[in-house]
Amino acid sequence: MGLRIGVGIDAHRRAAGRILVLGGVEIPAPFGLEAHSDGDVIAHAILDALFGAAALGDKGRFFPPSDPVYKDISSLVLLQECRKTLADYGWGIENIDVSVMCEEPKLAPHVPLMTKRIGAALALDERQVSVKGTTLERLGFTGRNEGIAALAVALLKSVE
Ligand SMILES: [Zn+2]
Repeated sequence: MGLRIGVGIDAHRRAAGRILVLGGVEIPAPFGLEAHSDGDVIAHAILDALFGAAALGDKGRFFPPSDPVYKDISSLVLLQECRKTLADYGWGIENIDVSVMCEEPKLAPHVPLMTKRIGAALALDERQVSVKGTTLERLGFTGRNEGIAALAVALLKSVE
């Protein structure tokens, strides 16, 4: 059986006056993330992990930030599109694991809904999607609360 692993990373700067969206969930916070899209670092890291596992480049190849179609688009829609593209290339998704580097707000209460929404967008069982938050002991830009970053790993299986 053909298996392929991929990794993706994303970070966005904290911005006042924006809605914080992580893993497709709006999270109550006094700030959001600066971005052309919804700034969903979790979804963006997953997209790069998925495209990377299939050696198809990065999300910018399929969803160019210069294209006005993608302005403020929900990244859950991009995940759906990504799943279809992978299927066209003969790949199914086995599982996804994401670590989110975030000093605040606390993500744990929102993780069940995130995994549910990510799973729905990618047609995965909730047991195939893992999201976990971590602080980095106040180190670096996430530790100083200047932004939020995510690292995702995805495993693909050949469905041909
Ligand atoms: Zn991003």
